[in-house]
Amino acid sequence: MNVESRTGRVVVIGGGISGLAAAHRLVGAGARVTLLEATDQLGGKLLAGEIAGVPVDLGAESMLARRPEAVALARAVGLADRLQPPATATASLWNRGALTPMPKGHVMGVPGDPEVLGGILSAEGLARMRRERELPRTEVGDDIALGAYVAARLGREVVDRLVEPLLGGVYAGDVYRTSMRASVPQLFEAARTYDSLLDGVRDIQRGAAAKQPAGPVFMGIEGGIGTLPDAVADAVRAGGGEVLLRTPVIGLTRGAGGWQVRTDERVIEADSVVLAAPAWAASALLSAESPAAAAELSAVEYASMALVTMAFRRSDVAALPAGSGFLVPPVDGRTIKASTFSTRKWGWVDAAAPDLFVLRTSIGRYGEEDHLHREDHELVDVSLRDLGAATGLAARPVATEVTRWIGGLPQYPVGHPDRVARVRAEVAKLPGLRVCGAAYDGVGIPACVASGQRAAEEIMLTRDPARGTDHEAGE
Ligand SMILES: Cc1cc2nc3c(=O)[nH]c(=O)nc-3n(C[C@H](O)[C@H](O)[C@H](O)COP(=O)(O)OP(=O)(O)OC[C@H]3O[C@@H](n4cnc5c(N)ncnc54)[C@H](O)[C@@H]3O)c2cc1C
Repeated sequence: MNVESRTGRVVVIGGGISGLAAAHRLVGAGARVTLLEATDQLGGKLLAGEIAGVPVDLGAESMLARRPEAVALARAVGLADRLQPPATATASLWNRGALTPMPKGHVMGVPGDPEVLGGILSAEGLARMRRERELPRTEVGDDIALGAYVAARLGREVVDRLVEPLLGGVYAGDVYRTSMRASVPQLFEAARTYDSLLDGVRDIQRGAAAKQPAGPVFMGIEGGIGTLPDAVADAVRAGGGEVLLRTPVIGLTRGAGGWQVRTDERVIEADSVVLAAPAWAASALLSAESPAAAAELSAVEYASMALVTMAFRRSDVAALPAGSGFLVPPVDGRTIKASTFSTRKWGWVDAAAPDLFVLRTSIGRYGEEDHLHREDHELVDVSLRDLGAATGLAARPVATEVTRWIGGLPQYPVGHPDRVARVRAEVAKLPGLRVCGAAYDGVGIPACVASGQRAAEEIMLTRDPARGTDHEAGE
């Protein structure tokens, strides 16, 4: 087997947005970097594609702009001119058989004022929320399931009708398992501070109103968020880094001279490694050097889902409601959990095909993955059935594309932050190794970029502790 010495090099394992962000930061700091991606394309869950000749995202499609990291990375790699906010910020909820405008004035579905959910909740559901301040405090301890806490304070209806579909859009998770501390840390802090959740949410809303930065909440990229990975990779290459596709890493061991990164064809020797692969892959690679970290990571579960992207004749979809699409509370027993009207949401999709209308549905969430075994045409048919029931749409699409995301989103059950802390503590015992990615500190693109950048910074500090002194002095 070929042994390639990369003395002085950092190897990044995984070419999703987390690994790419790490590589970009490392190159910017002057490191010599080799990024190894298992598949034949970069980006992981960021995937640009097309339907009927229209460029679309077939994976993630929008990034939170209120967190700076992802938008800043896009700017840094030359995409500033192509950043585009959604053309509409309104959406609907398909609730009890009717499309209702998505209420405003809530934090992940939890309102500061129960009355904003009039029209969504039943009279009993609203009355239950209004009684919240009479209840004794609900202790949250170190962590608690978001659904359990909100249901205890405000009743199950708000969880099932609003929190669950909103959280499902981010984690594809089960709100009654999901860690409040990890998924909505502001709510967790509010729950620790206030006896009343309504009071806590009002406090969050006051704080947000006071320091609301100007500009859109979300941002897309003309041509798709899926174009970001290649742009980052180009910047890495321009900075002297190597980016290798079709290079799965199959072993990671530490020898006297540093790390040995084993692929099918060679062993690459490196000083440092950033492990930016999903938890199951990271677990397998850590099994030799850190069985404890590997065991923790093997316990991280993932949800799988499918996206059904469809192009219709524009003349066939006049009946679709205004706005960027709708969410579906799982409690109503439908198959789709959301639909995004891409042509309405993204100006560049609209402009690309004046005669076509592109939308997508999402199917599957944690514990409900059976649908994903169905044939593509069946997923199209169930999507059309639900779309028809929600909106009256009766037309057939002119083109369809089904994208399955098996193991798409890591789940953050109660206790996840402690698991991540244990993984980091074990990994910290291994000199020159850091982990990053969606499994750790947030699944959203900005959180993934931040975790890659943090891993890169920490690697640079271990290689050159003086950087830390400079860094701190400069703060
Ligand atoms: C369908 C879907 C829609 C989403 N929508 C949004 C959205 O609109 N906005 C948002 O902010 N977030 C969204 N997310 C979440 C977000 O896209 C992901 O959490 C994020 O992109 C994960 O990035 P990552 O780099 O950590 O992991 P990944 O994207 O999983 O990348 C990991 C990479 O590592 C590679 N790899 C694995 N094993 C090895 C190995 N042994 N050797 C070498 N390479 C390896 C993989 O091939 C992959 O390319 C969505 C997620 C999904 C699934």
